[in-house]
Amino acid sequence: MQVITDLSRLCIHTITTKPWSIEEAAKKYAAAGVSGITVWRNALEGRNIRQTGNMLRDNNLNIVSLCRGGFFADRDPVKRKQSIDDNRRAIAEAAELGTSLIVLVCGADPSQPLEESRKQIQDGIATLIPEAAAAGVKLAIEPLHPMYADTRSAINTLAQANDMAEALNSLWVGVAVDVYHLWWDPYLEAEIKRCGQNSHLFAFHICDWNTPTTDMLNDRGLMGKGCIPVKQIRSWVEAAGFTGFNEVEIFSNTFWKEDQSVFLDKIIKAYREHS
Ligand code: ZN
Repeated sequence: MQVITDLSRLCIHTITTKPWSIEEAAKKYAAAGVSGITVWRNALEGRNIRQTGNMLRDNNLNIVSLCRGGFFADRDPVKRKQSIDDNRRAIAEAAELGTSLIVLVCGADPSQPLEESRKQIQDGIATLIPEAAAAGVKLAIEPLHPMYADTRSAINTLAQANDMAEALNSLWVGVAVDVYHLWWDPYLEAEIKRCGQNSHLFAFHICDWNTPTTDMLNDRGLMGKGCIPVKQIRSWVEAAGFTGFNEVEIFSNTFWKEDQSVFLDKIIKAYREHS
């Protein structure tokens, strides 16, 4: 297992330091030696996206991806159409920002069977492929932990994400592996290998699982503070040929209340020691 010696593959999601504006995050990340940034769309509100992309590059940050597109599943066809339109806007925003990847939180509608939601997800992504290709933007299906299968994603294992990416069979569609969602899966190593064989592992997200978890959404932990074998999963991802960024994505009511500079120092320490 390779030990992390530098920050050249460290990326942080803007949501991780939510209290900071994107401008402040860019300055602080760059000063700390962070190499990449994943931009959440809310961080772009009210801004010129092209100029914001330039600002990030001026701070020597690689713009790793835009979060997030998706939410394709809905019983109501009007809402499904609205979601496709929103994903089209996301593709345009990614191109303006200057990133080549959008992460998809695929969606689910609790008023219909999961199979139906999955079908709508696959149809939605298929509709977007030509536009994604024209814009030079790849789409990563991110499987979410099954506790979110009611409303956030009907794709809950890496096997399901791999199945869908293979069925869509496009260079523009792949998967995102997030340790928070997938660490428990006994087939994880095999499915990560499978992504590698298909060259469709597009992103790798890290954090940790707190025990007890006090909030289903906003209680993610720092690497090393929970039960996720982050180093081991990273070794599988790298064995599968992944050479991209290790993206720290932590939603935390606790850390968002802290001084974000202190939190950033903790992230970097946890990254060096436990990732
Ligand atoms: Zn993620």
